[in-house]
Amino acid sequence: TPSKEGKMFIKALFDYDPNEDKAIPCKEAGLSFKKGDILQIMSQDDATWWQAKHEGDANPRAGLIPSKHFQERRLALRRPEIPVQPLKASNRKSSGFRRSFRLSRKDKKTNKSMYECKKSDQYDTADVPTYEEVTPYQRQMNDKYRLVVLVGPVGVGLNELKRKLLISDTQHYGVTVPHTTRAKRSQESDGVEYIFISKHLFETDVQNNKFIEYGEYKNNYYGTSIDSVRSVLAKNKVCLLDVQPHEEDFQEMIKSAQIMESQYGHLFDKVIVNDDLTVAFNELKTTFDKLETDTHWVPVSWLH
Ligand code: 5GP
Repeated sequence: TPSKEGKMFIKALFDYDPNEDKAIPCKEAGLSFKKGDILQIMSQDDATWWQAKHEGDANPRAGLIPSKHFQERRLALRRPEIPVQPLKASNRKSSGFRRSFRLSRKDKKTNKSMYECKKSDQYDTADVPTYEEVTPYQRQMNDKYRLVVLVGPVGVGLNELKRKLLISDTQHYGVTVPHTTRAKRSQESDGVEYIFISKHLFETDVQNNKFIEYGEYKNNYYGTSIDSVRSVLAKNKVCLLDVQPHEEDFQEMIKSAQIMESQYGHLFDKVIVNDDLTVAFNELKTTFDKLETDTHWVPVSWLH
């Protein structure tokens, strides 16, 4: 069932303070929330102001929050590069949510993987983070394990953390065999270090959305196919994948980190600062254990 007892829950993807909101009809009636908070929707009767309360809050009184459409629209207006869609009924899906899982989504215009930073003129209102419909989820005995993507700039020890996790329990964690177009080295075997394919085939596979991520390095393509992820999950293992953008210099790295944070920050389950490898590893391990055992909130689209 998508949500327990027919209740609807959303995760807030932005901070909201009704006292700072000039548009709200009555500030006292507003509900303040922080990015990441889970809210229960009590009414969507009004197109502009929904009624909601914090999940688990015993107080039955609901407060006003801006509707998804209204919030998207005014955020888009504040950023003139985002094309504004008129607020009309035909434009709205039943609950106003796009049920798409962003990780596997490729940008239709450029066919680039989402890890690549999009240029500002490519945003539409669906890229303005407002709310995401979520549902409680707890992994059951026979459920597949998840793909967990580790993202970070080069030099923060992402590979080291992944390697430590992998060797901590090789029965439980697995990694994919990536594809590459570069020539096989003498000590390598096809299907072990990489799956070696031609540039032409790689480009065709990209067109056919076969890759969950890919990149170019020294005139060759490298990428992770969706099938390679599926084969790790089919072995009843957690699939570990690390994605590191290549930056030319430190300034570029800082810039891309800021874009990641501001445009995609709401998509990350956990942010870990690796000042001390042992501390960071323990934090990562605890996060993984919790994902497998605790009830947590996941996008409803994951359960379809
Ligand atoms: P090498 O050719 O020395 O095996 O790898 C060179 C570089 O290719 C790696 O340092 C890494 O940056 C990149 N690379 C390897 N595997 C992948 C992959 O699966 N996806 C992407 N995007 N890059 C990869």
